[in-house]
Amino acid sequence: MGEVDLNKERLELALEAAGLDLWENDLITGNVTRKATKTFEELGFTEDEIVSGVQDIYGLFHPDDIDTVRKAVADHLTGVTPQYRCEFRLRSKSGEWVWFANYGRIMDGHSATPGKRLIGVTFNIHDRKCRETEIAQINQQLTEQNRLLQQLNTALERLAANDSLTGLSNRRTLMELGAKEYKRTERFGHPLSLLVVDIDLFKAVNDAYGHLAGDRVICAVAQACAARKRSGVDIVARFGGEEFVIVLPETDGPSALRVAETLRQDVEALRVAVGDAGKDVAVTVSIGVATLHKGSGLDFEELVNRADKALYQAKGTGRNAVYVADAQPDDGGMAAPTQLDLGGGI
Ligand code: GH3
Ligand code: MG
Ligand code: MG
Repeated sequence: MGEVDLNKERLELALEAAGLDLWENDLITGNVTRKATKTFEELGFTEDEIVSGVQDIYGLFHPDDIDTVRKAVADHLTGVTPQYRCEFRLRSKSGEWVWFANYGRIMDGHSATPGKRLIGVTFNIHDRKCRETEIAQINQQLTEQNRLLQQLNTALERLAANDSLTGLSNRRTLMELGAKEYKRTERFGHPLSLLVVDIDLFKAVNDAYGHLAGDRVICAVAQACAARKRSGVDIVARFGGEEFVIVLPETDGPSALRVAETLRQDVEALRVAVGDAGKDVAVTVSIGVATLHKGSGLDFEELVNRADKALYQAKGTGRNAVYVADAQPDDGGMAAPTQLDLGGGI
């Protein structure tokens, strides 16, 4: 056996062992000089069908892949890519799509086959592609599950942070955010004011109209409090049953007193529908106001307590009133206890 034949045998062996199907195109004539017969066999075509050329390989490409293949060939022929590489699906004789890959290169001719030729191999990559598709599907499912988990987490966080009846921040959130606001106040030396708002004689509303009507009144007052909120600045929380706290950062005593007084009037003007018979109820609130100044030595909880004390002083005046907590020692005695009792109780 001559060296050429030996090399041919060696090549055949290597191709077979690697599962590669060699093909060759004459770029001058456009003829297929060696057909990828193994690939056709793998697709289920008979030798006759392959020889007669009934099945042109282009006729077997998946419609979604044909442009990719044409582009890969064109890119290589025009020198954009050093090799011709692409992955595509071919239709088997029984109609199934099977994944293959091509790897090829232009080779210069020699005396036996002059002119330029595109030589390449085709090989089956179906298993790998199926695994990739499976992994992609699993990843997509995981992404979707993560998205749902994030949504649930956000909803849970909201549930944990907010009061379920009014949607306002709950007491825990208030104490957390309030403590943060307190630290900022200390750092920047800004004032921080706080209102404690309590519905007057609320028990009587429950007793007269029922608990559900009472809930509606609580929501209406909560809305009135929230309406006064400077978005992204103030904290409005439900502190207890019919009690609310409003934290007003960078707000001094006189400004806080004005906010409280406006809120008191807002609530006084409210009419809340209770029952079916078009009946509505009016309520009032009493409000305690306290302001924290730099270097006061108070912490946030103590500020709440001071406003709470002022609230009970407002209650003592007959309700529907705003009361400002006693001046702090370092206020120089300027802010005397202030009481605005404009409406009297209900
Ligand atoms: P004051 O003017 O002194 O504050 O009188 P009040 O009747 O408002 O105060 P009191 O503390 O005696 O009553 C508060 C009532 O609020 C008692 C409680 O049953 C009611 N309450 C607390 N939480 C809720 C709630 O979520 N819904 C309803 N409907 N009522 C509530
Ligand atoms: Mg009350
Ligand atoms: Mg109360």
